[in-house]
Amino acid sequence: MEGVSIEENIKVVKNVIAAECQKSGRSPEEVTLIAVSKTKPVELLREAYECGCRDFGENKVQELLEKYEALPKDIRWHMIGHLQRNKVKYIVDKVYLIHSVDSLRLAEEISKEAVKKNVCVNILVEVNVANEETKYGTTCEEAIQLVQDITKLPNIRVKGLMTIAPFVENAEKNRPIFSKLKKISVDIMDKNIDNIIMEILSMGMTGDYAVAVSEGATCVRVGTGIFGVRQYAVEKGM
Ligand SMILES: *Cc1c(COP(=O)(O)O)cnc(C)c1O
Repeated sequence: MEGVSIEENIKVVKNVIAAECQKSGRSPEEVTLIAVSKTKPVELLREAYECGCRDFGENKVQELLEKYEALPKDIRWHMIGHLQRNKVKYIVDKVYLIHSVDSLRLAEEISKEAVKKNVCVNILVEVNVANEETKYGTTCEEAIQLVQDITKLPNIRVKGLMTIAPFVENAEKNRPIFSKLKKISVDIMDKNIDNIIMEILSMGMTGDYAVAVSEGATCVRVGTGIFGVRQYAVEKGM
């Protein structure tokens, strides 16, 4: 990893977050930096851990489990990728937050497995704000209903919303996407659904996290900006 210092990268990202928070009168503590470590070897995660990172994001079940076993137990694991129902059982008692719940069927499976393992699973509803065909996520219109339906299930708790904005050259282009997600979150709060508190807005990646923070993100998911570019030459199964 010549030329890449994880420590430096983390400092830069944290400084940008702090600067954006200051501009909008927020405290930097309101924003959690999730180090997106997919495809990266355990040694690099350990390096980020040594720099103080405790939140890591993975998008594949098998990879998350391997890293979970290999690394300290005070890490908060975030499942940020599309989750198949038949794999839910492997992670319900290991993840801190599942960001990618986009259907009632998936939520029902999470609830069922959480009951079996006697845990309560925190989740976010993923919204495909930009309506991109290639992306998972519920529509903006369906999001409120989905939150309401999930609220009725045992051992699963909706904590907020997540979106993956389109890949753009100019991050400003994604500002309306982020403000729309924030608006949906406020709309849901206004409905006063059974003690639902929409406290988490997971939005913003390496290319656009500054804009996301200025629009109210409480979680940013940064991969490349911390670990450098990913190599997908060796595809992992599962
Ligand atoms: C890979 C990934 C990220 C991180 O992307 P970078 O551009 O490398 O920061 C964030 N969120 C999700 C859902 C991802 O799959």
